[in-house]
Amino acid sequence: MKFRKKPVVIEAWKYEPGMQIEGCDIRESVFLNGGAFILTLEGQMIASPGDWIIKGVKGEFYPCKPDIFEQTYEPAEESSHEDKPLRVSSDNECPQCEKWVGEKPCACIEAGEVEMSGEANDKPE
Ligand SMILES: [Zn+2]
Repeated sequence: MKFRKKPVVIEAWKYEPGMQIEGCDIRESVFLNGGAFILTLEGQMIASPGDWIIKGVKGEFYPCKPDIFEQTYEPAEESSHEDKPLRVSSDNECPQCEKWVGEKPCACIEAGEVEMSGEANDKPE
């Protein structure tokens, strides 16, 4: 069988000296040349300036090199409906702002946050 990674949304910060991240144990050291030890589930790892610090799905933190980060992650839309895009219901009411959208699209549709169902056009009458 073949498998692929499920899409997950993580938070990440680009590390720079002096940075604090809530819940993350960051210990700078004079031996690390601007870098810091990050306490991860697998023990201490080193983050250098420019590395990403990732907060995983279980709230764990770990550093990631920028080239790996760019290969693995892309910006995610901050929305609560990633699984299925909102669609205007058959009675032409926007599910997001609950406005009647029969005559002209509301701001949500113009912003691409909500899709027209197209159902109205398919009806025989
Ligand atoms: Zn709307």
